[in-house]
Amino acid sequence: MTTTLSDFAALAEAFAVHPTDTPTSPPDRAAELESPRFGTVFTDHMARITWSRTAGWNNRRVEKYGPLLLNPASAVLHYAQEIFEGLKAYRHADGSIWTFRPEANAARFQRSARRLALPELSTEDFIGALAAVVAVDRAWVPVKKDFSLYLRPFMYASESFLGVRPSETAEFLVIASPVGSYFADGVKPVSIWVAEDYHRAGNGGTGAAKCGGNYAASLLPQTEAYAQGCEQVAFLDAETTTYLEELGGMNVFVVRDDGTIETPTLTGTILEGVTRSSILQLAADRGHQVVERRIPLEELLAGVRSGTVREVFACGTAAVITPIGRLKGADFDVEVAGGSAGQLTMSLRAELTGIQTGEVEDRHGWLTQIA
Ligand SMILES: *Cc1c(COP(=O)(O)O)cnc(C)c1O
Repeated sequence: MTTTLSDFAALAEAFAVHPTDTPTSPPDRAAELESPRFGTVFTDHMARITWSRTAGWNNRRVEKYGPLLLNPASAVLHYAQEIFEGLKAYRHADGSIWTFRPEANAARFQRSARRLALPELSTEDFIGALAAVVAVDRAWVPVKKDFSLYLRPFMYASESFLGVRPSETAEFLVIASPVGSYFADGVKPVSIWVAEDYHRAGNGGTGAAKCGGNYAASLLPQTEAYAQGCEQVAFLDAETTTYLEELGGMNVFVVRDDGTIETPTLTGTILEGVTRSSILQLAADRGHQVVERRIPLEELLAGVRSGTVREVFACGTAAVITPIGRLKGADFDVEVAGGSAGQLTMSLRAELTGIQTGEVEDRHGWLTQIA
């Protein structure tokens, strides 16, 4: 029998389950699921696959969530050879559990692996690991509206060796964390600090890969954003400091007064978001003109000031779609759409979350059942 990607049970079967001897009690779990803060609470288990150059991917298992044993000379601790993904599992009204375009995350994980000289993991193993951990921890998938189980697949270089070359061994894991609504008191526009002294990624670098190193580089400018009274940082291209690229962990969109929707084109320094490509599709479906191009910051600011730019928003798996209400930089500070959430922004957000939770028809076959 051949295994298809929709055959989640068959994919998960490759994983040996070693259940925890200290499961969270149902009342404790219920308390944890009540109002989890993003990324702080984890389920009882994690999925795991080990790799070595000689043995390939082996030892597929689901085991107790807990600390890893790391040799202090592990390559990841010194040279940051690490990649990750982020996606969510949604519980539908009938109790079934689904993920959104996981094959796109699997493909991106393979591209990230190539760039970081890590071994590629097959799409079957990637989705199988998600299905395996969710099958064991399905009671951790929240029932409440706008809640979901955030899945964090990641891979790191585990070889104990200080020489500079790709690791001969690696570990792949999936951990899972219940998350509530990103905006606890309703969706609120965020303010953005546009960094000009720092860049996230340069030509030929790792900007298009989802790797921890990119995030490490964004933390200081993010701190600068806080100091400027802003919630998030946006980056410009490293070569000319002219074009808007993206935020530290979210892509950006601009809505013009004629209904055109624009997003920075993928130049190799921008991470190709699954949310980004889904929005491009949904907007095109609605008949909007959709444009991927380089967007000069000066042009954007002029458009916001004159009103030809109606809405600006950010997007990514964690917060889905976030309206941007203010853009601030060293020599400008402008409000977008009077600082309120744009109509199209909110309508696309409702459609996308509706598809994910099974309340809106999945016209593009984006959902994959995993439990
Ligand atoms: C993960 C990520 C995004 C958003 O990608 P999604 O697939 O939509 O979650 C955008 N930018 C960066 C830098 C990212 O790491």
